Amino acid sequence: MAIWNLGSINADIVYSVPHIPAPGETLSSTGRQTYLGGKGANMSVAAARAGARVNHIGAVGADGRWAVERLLEYGVDTRNITEIATETAQAIIMVDPKGENAILLHLGANAEIPQTTLQTAMAEAETGDWLVIQNETNLQRTGANLGKKMGLKVAYAAAPFDADRVMAVLPHLDFLILNAVEASQLEAATGQAPADLPVQDVIVTRGADGADWYGRADKQHFDAIKVDPVDTTGAGDTFTGYVLAGLDRGMPMEQAIGMALKAGALMVTRHGTADVIPDLSEVQAFQL
Ligand code: ADP
Repeated sequence: MAIWNLGSINADIVYSVPHIPAPGETLSSTGRQTYLGGKGANMSVAAARAGARVNHIGAVGADGRWAVERLLEYGVDTRNITEIATETAQAIIMVDPKGENAILLHLGANAEIPQTTLQTAMAEAETGDWLVIQNETNLQRTGANLGKKMGLKVAYAAAPFDADRVMAVLPHLDFLILNAVEASQLEAATGQAPADLPVQDVIVTRGADGADWYGRADKQHFDAIKVDPVDTTGAGDTFTGYVLAGLDRGMPMEQAIGMALKAGALMVTRHGTADVIPDLSEVQAFQL
């Protein structure tokens, strides 16, 4: 089967700064590096590294050709990433010597994915494939509608959190994944705990406390694997990509989560995002 991921593609531009600038202040950076980022791209890379056939559906500007190349190098099918006449999304990240950061997000092309791009991709999708959506692009609702109608399994990673957007796609979902903060936000906004949601499988990830799976039958807790974390960026996206790749390969949920726990733990021992997501051989070799 295959995974179709309607998702964001960002240039993460990381500036090292002596301190986070105050309003009105002009400050020189002491370093600059550009990485591939965006929740969508991260999940595509994670699922591809986990061995799944991943088709990314998205948009970049002409300044984002390198990001598409990079996704391709990581094993993601990029034929449904359209180049449009706007700029590629950017996360301008300032990091001070203590690791404190400030982030400016420019949605750019992520917010303008053409409907025809989604339709062209979906014309190739087959019943039983997964359609994955997150909250950093346009067309989530259209995608979820279309995916469900076509017999795809629809998965939603509810980040960044927006209660209205979750509620709008909820009836179409087979799978919902949130972190602990997002799960509390959803409960506060709707009064519904994860176990009460009308979705077949809900996973709440809880950082160093592992993850909870709310399936049809009951709730199951999984402990995290103990590691010394150095950078937790991208742990959730890596976990999600690995779970979906496992399910797509026909694994039972427990086994897919087992693999994702290892991938998530390995990820927090590394600096960086998409570029350092572990591959299947590293995950399988990872001893508890
Ligand atoms: P997000 O990045 O979306 O906030 P989490 O922080 O919940 O997501 O992390 C996702 C998963 O990554 C967790 O469920 C866990 O399996 C793994 N993980 C995250 N932080 C740690 C940690 N400190 N030690 C071990 N595993 C971790």
